[in-house]
Amino acid sequence: MHTILILTPHNVSNILPTTFTHCSVCNDELSHIIEIGKGGGGGRIKMKKISIIICDRYRTCAGGKCLRAMANREGAFALYKEEEIEIVGYTSCGGCPGGNVEYAPAEMKKNGADVIHLATGLVVGYPPCPRLKAFCEFIPAKYGIDVVIGTHPIPQNYYLTHQNLGTWKSDRWQGRIKHVLTTEKMRLTYD
Ligand code: SF4
Repeated sequence: MHTILILTPHNVSNILPTTFTHCSVCNDELSHIIEIGKGGGGGRIKMKKISIIICDRYRTCAGGKCLRAMANREGAFALYKEEEIEIVGYTSCGGCPGGNVEYAPAEMKKNGADVIHLATGLVVGYPPCPRLKAFCEFIPAKYGIDVVIGTHPIPQNYYLTHQNLGTWKSDRWQGRIKHVLTTEKMRLTYD
């Protein structure tokens, strides 16, 4: 099986000759057609546009862990293993009580954001963000954008501390950290 990558700003789904379904050299069936640009037909791998909102306590963070996790499709970005990712927004909540969450998604939406990730700092900070529920309800209701809790895998040192504190014992918290809990081996690489 071969993969053909078409770099085009246009939707070419209607003009692809049927002979493109097979390799012109070995005549193998072409397994995927990946189109980058506007439009696109069914069955193609699409570009997922994501934005990130971080906890303002970490506002000086350079985003190293989030960007590494994006590139490696680790933590919550494992959701996009089969998709291309483009980051279209990155900001902090603006500080407690998170006033920037009221307005920043508007700008992200203008850039085409499909989903907003609330960074892992919101669940690993001491204490975790007390407004997670409000953010998760407000953003889809106001802007129609999906929300995912978490970005990079939880670092192991935070994991151990919160295990000792019993922070994430409840079913609600287990649901909140499900994308970023990962494995001990993975968590250690994010310490
Ligand atoms: S705890 Fe929540 S509201 Fe406060 S700064 Fe962090 S993300 Fe923002």
